[in-house]
Amino acid sequence: MRAWLGALSLLLLLAGPLGAAEGLDVWPPELEQGQPLVARACLGQGVQGPGAELSLLGRRLPMVAGPGGCLVGMAGVDLDDKPGPVHLEVLSGDKVLLSRTLTVHARDYGTRKITVDGKFMELSPQNLARYQEETARQKAVYASLLPRMLWSGPWRPPLDSAVVGIFGRRSLVNGQPRSPHGGVDLRGAMGTPVLAPAAGRVALVLDTYFSGLTVLIDHGLGVVSGYRHFSKALVREGQMVRPGQVIGLVGMSGRVTGPHLHFDMHLAGARVDPLAWIKASAQLARWARQP
Ligand SMILES: [Zn+2]
Repeated sequence: MRAWLGALSLLLLLAGPLGAAEGLDVWPPELEQGQPLVARACLGQGVQGPGAELSLLGRRLPMVAGPGGCLVGMAGVDLDDKPGPVHLEVLSGDKVLLSRTLTVHARDYGTRKITVDGKFMELSPQNLARYQEETARQKAVYASLLPRMLWSGPWRPPLDSAVVGIFGRRSLVNGQPRSPHGGVDLRGAMGTPVLAPAAGRVALVLDTYFSGLTVLIDHGLGVVSGYRHFSKALVREGQMVRPGQVIGLVGMSGRVTGPHLHFDMHLAGARVDPLAWIKASAQLARWARQP
């Protein structure tokens, strides 16, 4: 019996995906569309991974050294990534140091149907050009993969208030699918201070067509947070911010019907639930042993 159990556990170890891949821990254990993950890779005695990256779904994010010779990092499953098996890999250049097969599960965040006057459906050539230029500038920030972690410890919410618009909800406008809601809307009266949830560098301050006055903060390692519809921005591009520092005031700039804060998170460009990211940051801080 004991020998049989031993053979079974050896088989499970060899089977890889059935058992936990040795050395590569992920949290949370289940991957879903629009959700972040944090990872810890322990490479064993004397094996270091300088310049190591975590690769998921074609996105590569820099990892950093944690305690005990382990590396820590993070990745995201975008709202539009397809469900199914995926490979999470720790890479050093093209060399795979560790890998693990995970499953992305579909997640339904709901759909709402909206009917608007047809004239709001199409942008003028001028506004379209403006929108495209703004999108390109923001994408360039999401693509910045600064190989340093500018923050330390768990994140805090930028505004301590209720959710008035959930992350990920899809909309059908006059029967046509529109981009899903890429962030979470938090209730806030005009002029309420919005706080940086973690340290980082202000990468963009821009008055945009749809999102109004927008601030993007680059936190390093491919992690970028966004704050939109501000009435006033209180930071400049290039400025370093501390956690809890006031970065702007709640407003209703852009295409909105009332004041609120739109808060979003990009991990190497993948749109993930910002409130789930706040929870993931606490797990990362435990692994990195940051208070
Ligand atoms: Zn929003």
